[in-house]
Formats: sequence, C-alpha cells, structure tokens
Amino acid sequence: MAKITLRQLLDHAAERDYGVPAFNINNMEQGLAIMQAAKACDAPVIIQASRGARAYAHDIMLSKMMEALAEIYPDIPLCVHQDHGNNEATCLTAIRHGFTSVMMDGSLLADGKTPASYDYNVEMTASVAEMAHAVGASVEGELGVLGSLESGHGEAEDGHGAEGALSHDQLLTDPEQAVDFVMQTKVDALAIACGTSHGAYKFSRRPDGDILAMHVIEAIHQKLPNTHLVMHGSSSVPQELQDIINSYGGEMPQTFGVPVEEIVRGIRHGVRKINIDTDCRMAMAAQFRKVAVSNRAEFDPRKFLKPAMDAMRDLCRERFEAFGCAGNASRIKVMPLDEMARRYATGLLDTQVAASRAA
Ligand SMILES: [Zn+2]
Repeated sequence: MAKITLRQLLDHAAERDYGVPAFNINNMEQGLAIMQAAKACDAPVIIQASRGARAYAHDIMLSKMMEALAEIYPDIPLCVHQDHGNNEATCLTAIRHGFTSVMMDGSLLADGKTPASYDYNVEMTASVAEMAHAVGASVEGELGVLGSLESGHGEAEDGHGAEGALSHDQLLTDPEQAVDFVMQTKVDALAIACGTSHGAYKFSRRPDGDILAMHVIEAIHQKLPNTHLVMHGSSSVPQELQDIINSYGGEMPQTFGVPVEEIVRGIRHGVRKINIDTDCRMAMAAQFRKVAVSNRAEFDPRKFLKPAMDAMRDLCRERFEAFGCAGNASRIKVMPLDEMARRYATGLLDTQVAASRAA
C-alpha cells in the first residue's frame, strides 16, 4: 500500500525540480490507464476526483478502486486528491473515504459558481487546512478565479466554475495577496489563476503572454519560493486528438490548450502539480469514435474501452516524461499519514518556513 500525501510528493518534486500531472478520473479504465503509464516509467501519481466524479461513480466505488490501484501497483506512490472541494463537508468526507489530500476552493462560494471574497476564502481554507493537517492530509487552496483572459468569463465544468463576467484582477492571482494567503491559511499547495480555464475551449489561438500569463507564475514564485504552485485547466488539447475526433464524425470547433512547453516553463518556476482532465477525455473519446465508425458491427464495450485505455495510457506517459516526473517513484519512501500529522503538529511543515528546499 503506497498512498502518499500531496505534501510529501510535492516536496519531493520541489527537491528534484519536476512537476506531477494530476489526472482526473471517473472510472476503472482511467485509473488503470494512469497506473499502467506510471508503472512503465516509474512515476509517482496524483489521481483526483471532482465532486462530479464522486457522484458519478459513488464514494465507495471510488475509494475501493483507489485502494485496489494502490494494491495492484505497490511500488507507485499514489496521492488520492479531492479536486475543487466546495466546503468543509466535501473535503472531510473525502478524507474519510481515504483521500490523502483535498483542494478547498474558497475562490468560489459553496455553490461552486459565485466568486467569493478574499476573507471568505482565507477563513474557509484555513479551517479545512487545520482539520486536514490534524490527520496528516494535505490541502490545496486557490487564489484568483479561473477563467479566460480572452473572454473575461469562467468556464464551468462538471458543474464547477465561475459564472458571469470576471475582471482582469480576478482572473490573475495577485502575488502580494498570495503571500498573505499562504501565511494565513497554511496550505500545502496553491492553485493560481493565470488565464487557464477548464474544458477544451481555453484559447481561440495559440496562447501568447496576453492570454496565458506565465509571468504571473514567475512573480508569485519569486515571492513564495517554497510554496508549491498548481496549474489548473492545463490540458494541451492536442491537435492530433481534435483531428481524430473530427475525422470520425466529431464536430469539435478548433481550439487551443496550454502548450506542454509552457507547463515545463512553469515547472522551472515552482509549478509542481498540473491538472489534466480534458486531454484524457479526448484521448478516450477519439478511440470510441474511431471504433464506432471503423467497425460498425462492434458492440462489445471492451472493444471500445481497451483502445481508449491504451490511448489514455500513452498520453499520461508523455506527460509524466515531459514534466520530469518519470523515474521518481522508486526514489520516494512513502510517509504514513500519522507521521505527517505529527510533523504538522510540531510545526515542521509550516509552508512559509519549512518546505523541502532552503530559501
Ligand atoms: Zn480546476
């Protein structure tokens, strides 16, 4: 059993200058695809489940599946993370079901769509961090609201995302405020807003600095060199996947994601966790379409799911390798939750002073 906390994993990533892709899952095939990829290149894993995924698959199914994946792949450190928790209950029930890490997204109110005040965000996130740390689990917070600098709007996915128009200030995390936020909340990782949004339709053109504000990440990292940064909405939306989908009857409008080389640039500036969901969905859906069109007599779900799983596995492996994550699983000795809790209690893990790397 090798379930690891986000904090321990990202501390290791910071020590060795790599980033860890965090893949979303809803079902067994996605879980197997990620673990097969990780096993093939010796990468530690973050698997995350949204509230939508928990509702889709059921908490018991998901938590037992995570246990099963950890048992089948005992050599792969596996962090099980709640994506976009909206309140204390979501985060605490996740921990109760064996998640080793939670995101408390207090940038939005509990409805998951209304932008919240800074004070609300600090209060909610600090409260969850205190409770989670007491049992050794990790916490990711978010400062700034995810959304497009092109359109000035959020992009809801799985029922989560800001509604209505957002100002430029809301869409870009303020570095000064980030320092205050991390100090007050004691989060283990900080999700920042830099122009990425959820879903496939991130950018209408290949992004430049006006619409993908990597300079904001660099500014935050300068002020918070020991804080692990998280990029949400960081699928690359590969052209070849758009092309497969559209060549087998799909009608995806042309779109652009976050180029892998921009993520690699982020990793050089403190980005340690990179959230990827859309690319995995597209890799699988492309194969569903291909099989459906190429073999119209086929009706065995496995004949659709197996190539889909293989395609997702290959995509995950590419990300593990591009982010420098490959080769690191065997270097990590997983620390149990109790030991993490002890370290939090004794102040050894105070984000602003400790981290893995000397300032
Ligand atoms: Zn997100």
